[in-house]
Amino acid sequence: MISASEDKLLYDHSETMDIAFGEWYRRNKNSNAVITPTSVRSDPRLEKLVKVILAEAIEVEATDIQITNRESYGLVRFRVGTKMVDHRKIHKDAMYGLGVVLRSMSDVNIEEINKAQINGRFAYDHGRSRYDVRAAFIPSIGGQTISLRVLYSNRLGGNIDKLGFPDQVSKTLKEVLSLKEGLIFLTGGTSSGKTTTLYTSIRHIINKTGATKNIMTIENPIEYQIDGVEQSQTNDILGYDFATALQALLRMDPDVILVGEVNDEGTARAAVRAASSGHLVLSTLHTSDTVSVNQVLRYYGISRLDMGNSLQLVINQTLEEKLCPHCRKPRAVTSSELNWMTKRLKTNEQIVTVYEKNPVGCSECQGYGIKGLVLVVEMLDANHVYKKALDDSQEDLDKLKEMLMTREFANFYPKEWDVFRHLQKGNIDMATAKKILR
Ligand SMILES: [Zn+2]
Repeated sequence: MISASEDKLLYDHSETMDIAFGEWYRRNKNSNAVITPTSVRSDPRLEKLVKVILAEAIEVEATDIQITNRESYGLVRFRVGTKMVDHRKIHKDAMYGLGVVLRSMSDVNIEEINKAQINGRFAYDHGRSRYDVRAAFIPSIGGQTISLRVLYSNRLGGNIDKLGFPDQVSKTLKEVLSLKEGLIFLTGGTSSGKTTTLYTSIRHIINKTGATKNIMTIENPIEYQIDGVEQSQTNDILGYDFATALQALLRMDPDVILVGEVNDEGTARAAVRAASSGHLVLSTLHTSDTVSVNQVLRYYGISRLDMGNSLQLVINQTLEEKLCPHCRKPRAVTSSELNWMTKRLKTNEQIVTVYEKNPVGCSECQGYGIKGLVLVVEMLDANHVYKKALDDSQEDLDKLKEMLMTREFANFYPKEWDVFRHLQKGNIDMATAKKILR
């Protein structure tokens, strides 16, 4: 596990912030007049502590913040890159107040600590951006565990070029988003950033068309609220699933539909029908690449003809830890690595220098050596070359991929090239590159 510098894990003596007012709360613990939810929620010292925690999280692009009770102190943990790390200790007696302030900000019941409250949210301004934060408060030993999820997609403001895709992928995605009908699939596992790409795509359409399109979504859950978009949520208990919701929604004649996930036959059929009758449909599928999308749709009972008429684009993505550009360490590529790259990365270009994580980090990355995440992508343009290759390869996926990489106008961008791009830029180390292409 990466560990933050030791100073951070001690109370903040330098600013006498945590320790001083934590002690103050300890001394006044038995005075009911001083420590009530109403008096505590406007304590500027606690507000400052919340700001420090959020600012530090945003600066290292942590996606999750967990604030939890240990026996003798409170602990703030961050998800930095893909790992949870201990970030900062808090005086035990400041924990109650910290919870009150965060519940108040999140617009949930500030006095309730014995029941889970999972639907909190607030907006937080840092630098020039506004961040949406989702908050959950769960009863646990010694009090409550607070989970904050920081959403970074607002920062992109609908700019596809800021997603971190290679130019070929950004350009193709923008072209397809301007179509009147068709099906766009994002594939990848959980926490692969698919939602961010989908929401950025929706915002891109709004920016381009000046809110003249009727855009509707069916999600579970609704992760971000977007002005000008009609958003709805499925409900398993009421039997309001993606397929039922999609059919209901089509009666309202949307131009663009975001369907949270295609995960059964009914949804797949409804999505394909919508996408071939004047609607642009964006959705996600659980596959680990792009080329197997045909198999998955076939499994859901979609015919080759229907797929050919609707499918436009498939993007597969994963998120990997990004080396801190301020302290990463360069080294020469070894001959066995060179061999591996020539064999596996399917490119004639070569890399001579690769980078590794600096184990002690620097001030820019607060000692983690990691700064945020990078997207590793693969793109399949379901154009006529693809359809022909699908026939010619008789759906042998290795053959299909080979054909797409060599045929003119295929507009296929394999994951191998993206791994090469990130190695070349020093975003990822060799171990990560090998892990991705395992
Ligand atoms: Zn650094």
